[in-house]
Amino acid sequence: MERMPALFVGHGSPMNAIENNEYSARWEALGKKLPRPKAILSVSAHWFTQGTRLTDASAPRMVYDMYGFPEALYRVRYPAPGSPEFAHEAAELLGPRARTDNTWGLDHGSWSVLCRMFPKADIPVFQFSVDAKASPGEHFAIGEKLSALRERGVMIFGSGNVVHNLSRVNWGMNGGYDWAEEFDAYIKSAVASRDFDPVINYEAAGSSAVLAFPTFEHFAPLLYVLGAAYEKDTLSVFNDSCTLGSLSMTGYLFD
Ligand code: ZN
Repeated sequence: MERMPALFVGHGSPMNAIENNEYSARWEALGKKLPRPKAILSVSAHWFTQGTRLTDASAPRMVYDMYGFPEALYRVRYPAPGSPEFAHEAAELLGPRARTDNTWGLDHGSWSVLCRMFPKADIPVFQFSVDAKASPGEHFAIGEKLSALRERGVMIFGSGNVVHNLSRVNWGMNGGYDWAEEFDAYIKSAVASRDFDPVINYEAAGSSAVLAFPTFEHFAPLLYVLGAAYEKDTLSVFNDSCTLGSLSMTGYLFD
């Protein structure tokens, strides 16, 4: 069995699902290059719950959890099957902290990227929540537990943004504010050196960490992916840039 990747994607605007730009082009290119997993475990910033929740539906529903976007975005369908079997394996790895919950489904953290990366929607996907009660170290530890699934044919996919401060978005701006670039570089440097403690203790970045994200949910999926990374993995950094002033699109592939 080929070991499947652990992959963090900065998803940015939901419009990347339907816009052709440098980010969505890179997701498409990655999808062509990556091995084909038996299933994808998708940790999405947009499912923020008390405790860990996973979907185990055989056909997860679409969740359009974004407002005020063009009609075309609400017409996107991503009819990937679920994976009850691997969802139950993941839940078992975590013990009582995890519960299955099909009141949610594939939200735009999952489908806006996967519809470009794996457009045929023929790889089973189950969604995995960000635990609002967990500390940064606990998110990382959950990822460590999930890493075993990679050997079983499951890709660990995290979707969020390293820098995500919507109140400071500047729609006309290319690149990021200085503090956004600084925080993105701080995280990149730690990840590249395989020293994940500065990521878990991200507040050590100083003032840039305060501005990087007012709430934690978009950063957390990175911690799950880092927890699921192995030392023997090769690391690739992609979509390595900030945009709209206060978003980082940087992604990390461990394979
Ligand atoms: Zn988002």
